[in-house]
Amino acid sequence: MQSPAKDGPFIVCDNLIKIYKVGGAEVMALQGLELSAEKGEFMGIVGASGSGKTTLMNVLGGLDRPTAGKAVVNRQDLLRLSDSALNRYRREQVGFVWQQTSRNLIPYLTALENVELPMTVAGKNWGEKRSWAGELLEAVGLSARRHHKLAQMSGGEQQRVAIAVALANKPILLLADEPTGEVDSATARIILETFRRLNRTYGLTTLIVTHDQQVAGHVDRVVAIRDGKTSTETIRQVVTAPQAAGGHEDAKEGGQEGRHEVRYHEYIVLDSVGRLQLPPEYRERFNIGDRVKIELQPGGILLKAVEGRGLVKKEAPSEEEDRARPLAKQRRPLLGRLRNVLPVRKKK
Ligand code: ADP
Ligand code: MG
Repeated sequence: MQSPAKDGPFIVCDNLIKIYKVGGAEVMALQGLELSAEKGEFMGIVGASGSGKTTLMNVLGGLDRPTAGKAVVNRQDLLRLSDSALNRYRREQVGFVWQQTSRNLIPYLTALENVELPMTVAGKNWGEKRSWAGELLEAVGLSARRHHKLAQMSGGEQQRVAIAVALANKPILLLADEPTGEVDSATARIILETFRRLNRTYGLTTLIVTHDQQVAGHVDRVVAIRDGKTSTETIRQVVTAPQAAGGHEDAKEGGQEGRHEVRYHEYIVLDSVGRLQLPPEYRERFNIGDRVKIELQPGGILLKAVEGRGLVKKEAPSEEEDRARPLAKQRRPLLGRLRNVLPVRKKK
């Protein structure tokens, strides 16, 4: 027997698969996703619409069960937990922030009452509720507005109340699904800074899904999801002044301990058996089809296109073939397609 000397990362997804059944068809929303996060990490998740980001949040938050693979949070295997254990996990250990604040908040209650509500449900006493709700509203920068009703607050303020509500029951994991999706970029910045502050203050492991380009500047790591798999990750590194000379630079910041520079390193993620997904833009640029040649170099491995196995460009169907396809799939201009089925009006 191997001794489990180390607990391993806080979050581990290994070959994670989620299949939704819609009618007779199956949608594979997560296709063998790999992800790990350390306790206290602050991670951004990006990816095109439909790539599986929300599915991943729902699985990690215990709202949805994975179909296969491994999803472990704080040593709890989410695939194996009983229904009641999974419910308890979701209620007691996870905080959610959604794009629509209405999913977290009650408009006719004040900010303070909203934050206290989950604690009331959990059976906390009055004193405990007051002090923790007060501290949380202070932490999200809304102490002065605590007696305002939600309906009197701006979208950005409401979202910060929603963050406080998500933390009311002291979760160990905070999941936010496009929390900046409905606000302008200045407000988005404030929201991202709020998440960062809470992450630092409480050592709270935080995963944020966002389309916001600014996110890389706030988080420790950005993971990109493509077609239900983790494809690349970008790690943010702060380099202090003497080291910072030379090399590529993406952004500069003036820090408290003098000047420092922020560098981003992008990596391609390999799955547990060593497969990697080449970004489509690289495949296109180097005309890489279904095979690559590898060459060992002193510093690493070079991937090269194979002659005659480049990307196959789909040939346009002949007009005859095109007409034979179902109407919705035909490539001819819409008007041309409709002429075949609409009654023809003859010119007089
Ligand atoms: P994202 O959040 O990145 O836009 P989602 O996780 O919402 O992506 O969706 C990933 C894929 O799974 C999409 O093809 C979507 O249509 C499908 N999907 C998501 N949720 C469901 C569901 N409840 N039932 C059926 N298909 C779903
Ligand atoms: Mg989504």
